[in-house]
Amino acid sequence: MIVVLTGGTGGAKFVDGLRQVVSPKDLTIIVNTGDDLEWWGLYLSPDLDSITYVLAGMLSKERGWGVKGDTFFCLQAMGDLGQPIWFHVGDRDLAIHLLRSKLLGQGKSLSEVTTEIAAKMGVQARILPMSDSRVETRIGTPVGELGFEEYFVQRWYQDPVESVRFAGIADAEPAPGVIEAIKSASLVLLAPSNPVTSIGPILAVPGIREALRETAAPVAAISPIVGGAAVSGPAGVLMASQGLPVSLAGVAQAYHDFLDVLVADVSDAQAAEELQRSGFRVHCARTLMRTAEEKAALARSVISLFTGEGAAHAAADPS
Ligand code: GDP
Repeated sequence: MIVVLTGGTGGAKFVDGLRQVVSPKDLTIIVNTGDDLEWWGLYLSPDLDSITYVLAGMLSKERGWGVKGDTFFCLQAMGDLGQPIWFHVGDRDLAIHLLRSKLLGQGKSLSEVTTEIAAKMGVQARILPMSDSRVETRIGTPVGELGFEEYFVQRWYQDPVESVRFAGIADAEPAPGVIEAIKSASLVLLAPSNPVTSIGPILAVPGIREALRETAAPVAAISPIVGGAAVSGPAGVLMASQGLPVSLAGVAQAYHDFLDVLVADVSDAQAAEELQRSGFRVHCARTLMRTAEEKAALARSVISLFTGEGAAHAAADPS
């Protein structure tokens, strides 16, 4: 079983590649829920949605979120009614939020609801929220503390970041199956997701980081930082706010206690070599995923490091 830890947009691209080269039944995806929010009285889980949509073949590739070909009539009507419309919910997208909210209202847990919705959508891979407890990523800024989506979507991540915290994390437990999946995995992969606000909350759930240290499976991460900057979004600013260099070395530092291999972009070959000299195992690949082929090629390249010839090659790498 390949286990993937992921956020939304960058992670969904990588999962799109994986689903092309691995049987979905061999995939367990552990998803960040720190971005979850209440919206129009509904419970939204943006990263769970992106991963569910990509595995169902429904994700909008142009936007990187939401359902492909969706319309936005309800959003417009809510605006006409004076409701907030900064978080763009499509009409078909609304269905998943309505159903999730209804099932949660019946007392089901987030992981039960996620499994039920994924099954209805024909998803064969296993999708697990990091936790059934409510954990909220809060971004401290000069205008006050913001929810992650307020910072990211409503305010276009323009505010200087003073702090990041995960409200509710101390009492959170990993969702059922998360620890077992990591410990019994054949390979654990960290998608090229934001290390602070996508992978960070998952690692902060008590017990998950320990499980990554203890698992017998190799653990590899694909860097979301290419050429000293995030491919998209605020990962650079958020890493800097946590005292992490915005570089390959910064990604390595964020995961240093459990990571076996860091996958760097080919354009970062020099940084990769330097990191390798400091004792880290680094593999270079084309990590920019613009097309279905590039996504599949990256997934294949990462997996081949741990199977057959690829494993022999990786083992021969100086580390
Ligand atoms: P979020 O929950 O929507 O913020 O999504 P993620 O955390 O999963 O994805 C955002 C991260 O993905 C950013 O830090 C980007 O740098 C990274 N990313 C996006 N596209 C690519 C890509 O094609 N290649 C790599 N290596 N990273 C990417």
